[in-house]
Amino acid sequence: MAVKNVNVLLAGGGIMSSTLGVLLRQLDPLLTITMVEKLDDVAEESTSGWNNAGTGHAAYCELNYTPETADGGIDASKAFAINESFERTLQFWSYLIHQQALPEPTSFINATPHLSFVWGEKNVSFLRKRFAAIGEHHMFAGMEYSEDPAVLREWMPLVMDGRDPAQPVAGTRVKHGTDVNFGSLSRSMVGYLQNSDNFDLLLKHSIHGLEKQSDGKWRVSVRESGSFASKHIIADFVFLGAGGAALQLLQASGIAESVGYGGFPVSGQWLVCKKPEIVSQHLAKVYGKASIGAPPMSVPHLDTRIIDGEKALLFGPFAGFTTKFLKRGSFMDLFASIRPANLWPMLKVGMSSFDLIRYLITEVMQSHADRMNALREYFPNAKDEDWTLATAGQRVQIIKKDPQKGGKLEFGTEVISAADGSLAALLGASPGASVTVTAMLQVLEKCFPEKMASAEWKAKLKEMIPSYGRSLTNDAELLKQIRQDTLSTLGLIDTGETMQAPEAAVV
Ligand SMILES: Cc1cc2nc3c(=O)[nH]c(=O)nc-3n(C[C@H](O)[C@H](O)[C@H](O)COP(=O)(O)OP(=O)(O)OC[C@H]3O[C@@H](n4cnc5c(N)ncnc54)[C@H](O)[C@@H]3O)c2cc1C
Repeated sequence: MAVKNVNVLLAGGGIMSSTLGVLLRQLDPLLTITMVEKLDDVAEESTSGWNNAGTGHAAYCELNYTPETADGGIDASKAFAINESFERTLQFWSYLIHQQALPEPTSFINATPHLSFVWGEKNVSFLRKRFAAIGEHHMFAGMEYSEDPAVLREWMPLVMDGRDPAQPVAGTRVKHGTDVNFGSLSRSMVGYLQNSDNFDLLLKHSIHGLEKQSDGKWRVSVRESGSFASKHIIADFVFLGAGGAALQLLQASGIAESVGYGGFPVSGQWLVCKKPEIVSQHLAKVYGKASIGAPPMSVPHLDTRIIDGEKALLFGPFAGFTTKFLKRGSFMDLFASIRPANLWPMLKVGMSSFDLIRYLITEVMQSHADRMNALREYFPNAKDEDWTLATAGQRVQIIKKDPQKGGKLEFGTEVISAADGSLAALLGASPGASVTVTAMLQVLEKCFPEKMASAEWKAKLKEMIPSYGRSLTNDAELLKQIRQDTLSTLGLIDTGETMQAPEAAVV
């Protein structure tokens, strides 16, 4: 029985669906939107504050975004793309604050300096080159570099105390880095949608089937927890924002574009410290270098977290392996996703990812003492009894066909959409929530091309994201104006403080 007809059905209540919902609500207040979430609240999977690292990825501190090239140079293209993408996200959040569509910014975002920290001659030389490659660009204005242990101690005392004074060390710092509680943000966005007309939230409802009707609409089968009876929602457009489970729903849709995609689940764990006397000594996200063979998202970092008013330190992530696609998923998830069309790409990835498999086995075998030793590389005086292990969210990395290798494993995010624009899915997990706005703009561009070209939507987009369609990487003046507004609106600098001139500071 058809429950209802809607214009937009959002599968899942994480940061992706909630952002798309708010973007669409702003662009067209008359659209009827239904969000279907299988858990008893939204933002309880990867988007939950405790399930991810909460780094507003802007490429200030993540060394994997500036890999070394074969000739010893630095490839900074990814760093610029991610920084620009995060600027779009910040603009959208600022707009929502101005509209009073979100509560005070501290409920979801807090200024937390972003630092990179390395030791050993080779790594120091890498960081020096990295700073030379990006530090003077206006996108990275304000980035400081130092090899002086006294300066580094001021920036991150816990990291420097107890360290061998003869060890060569180097760090960079960007003061306007951020810690983001994507869970709180997502709940606020859904709250905003619930206060608007034409929006419906179905909690404890799971989508288990999608069928394309002859009229081009989607017939989506939904089941309430504990019930065997299916309800049906007829939707003009469906967005699969189901996190790790988006792959399964994409496969269920049967669209041609889904063929050949597979998923590789990687789970994560953190060491957590909530002792106020330790937590109060660290205000930063300190990112190091990933070990050889480790996937890019496993770069170790020691982070200040502020989650729902509670301060903590997190160190990790430590990778793990499970066959679940969601933290609260089923052990059958991986097996159920295997299809004749993705079997070969999955096997090829399995056969060629020795470094990754070795890395995962080593990580899984670690004891608390091993994990504490890894922590002590960043916090030499850390004591075992102050830290406990917590389970993070689940990431499902994308496996896809590759004409040369047969199959490849990707660590980014990808929007897959039906040719007629009636359905889109978000696969992958990194850089994840920080690039939500860019990813959801891609969904709109792919699935609503005519509306996106209309004068009405164009004007609204410009209002919400002033840099939309323009390059912040190439326009220093535009970036300066926009950043001044976003940082002050979001409380990331004192309103009296002005951003530094484009030249970067060297300490
Ligand atoms: C360990 C870890 C660290 C991370 N660190 C960062 C970071 O520092 N910065 C950053 O920007 N990003 C980070 N990420 C990535 C980020 O958390 C994710 O990209 C983002 O939260 C994904 O949001 P989502 O809405 O796609 O998925 P989710 O938040 O997982 O939401 C999907 C929702 O869909 C629901 N659902 C699933 N199947 C169904 C169904 N059949 N029917 C109905 N509902 C369904 C789920 O219950 C869930 O609520 C990290 C991720 C992990 C795991």
